[in-house]
Amino acid sequence: MIAVPVRDDLAALEGYHSPQVTVDVRLNTNESPYPPPEAWRRAWIDEISQIAFNRYPDRQAADLRQALGELHGVGPERVFAANGSNEVLQALCLAYAGPGRSVAVFEPTYALHSHIARITGSGVTLSGRDDDFTVDLDEVRRVLVDADPAITFLCSPNNPTGTVDPPATTAAVVEAAPGLVVVDEAYGQFAPHSAVGQVTEGSPLVVIRTFSKTWALAGLRLGYCVAPAEVVGALERVTLPYHLDAAKQAAGRVALRFRAEMEARVATLVRERDRLAQALGGLPVDTWPSGANFLLFRPRSRPGADVWAALVERSVLVRNFATWPRLDGCLRVTVGTPEEDDAFLAALTEVLS
Ligand code: PMP
Repeated sequence: MIAVPVRDDLAALEGYHSPQVTVDVRLNTNESPYPPPEAWRRAWIDEISQIAFNRYPDRQAADLRQALGELHGVGPERVFAANGSNEVLQALCLAYAGPGRSVAVFEPTYALHSHIARITGSGVTLSGRDDDFTVDLDEVRRVLVDADPAITFLCSPNNPTGTVDPPATTAAVVEAAPGLVVVDEAYGQFAPHSAVGQVTEGSPLVVIRTFSKTWALAGLRLGYCVAPAEVVGALERVTLPYHLDAAKQAAGRVALRFRAEMEARVATLVRERDRLAQALGGLPVDTWPSGANFLLFRPRSRPGADVWAALVERSVLVRNFATWPRLDGCLRVTVGTPEEDDAFLAALTEVLS
């Protein structure tokens, strides 16, 4: 034991817990079940062989930001890239929240929004979603007036419920918010609509995306946001110099050349999600509509935690939300390959029979 206490406000915080258990069927962290294209790997290795590793990387990540900007029809000054979208969230909290300021979160939602806010010393105002997990605009307006948050977090599709916010909801929150509105679109391409097109210079809207899900590059740790240029400038002020290494910048840039393959993967997963949802509909579980690459479900006949453990015994790992407020007894399954999903369905059928 060292005699140096950790920051008082950190002492009560638990770290990120999602068990990394070795199983045959891993459907717990919403990764892509398919690897990125082999041609991407070859092109990236080719680029890596030309990197001057004795030199620091491009601090501005100019080429990557240019390519991301082209993807979304904006200039590079409207794009900030980081080591996963979690680091984008951290930079947003460091720049706009922090001690003496607060963020607003509408639960159940991605736990890291409030967690990262707390790590940065920000206050957190927790509020709830409607019974069907949609955002209740009257409740949002009440919270925004009462708490005056520096950042209001939305998540569309929402993790872990899969709920997609219609554009009118995002617009209404932006209209009412006293500070930034951050829409986390880690699963954006799986959904029928996105808020990226609603980002403009004059409005305090930021939309976050990641390479971890649709781009099949969770191992790479690359995420970004599209935001007004002024926000991008603020995020650069709180980011460590050279935070994006040269190999990663090249990987992201090269990945964007494989957009058609990404879109085909997404279409396959959306079809498979619908098949999985239909199959779950025939089992004694409650499910909710999802615009993401996962489905939330609640077994009716057995406690969720028991079902989770029984699935692990059958070498199938899903995410356990059974003890979360509002998600009593719920589990979340990532859409996998048809074979993985069949293995999950067979195990679940057995566990619930
Ligand atoms: N946002 C949401 C909603 C997520 O579900 C995740 C990953 N679980 C992230 C952000 C973080 O993704 P990454 O840091 O890998 O980009």
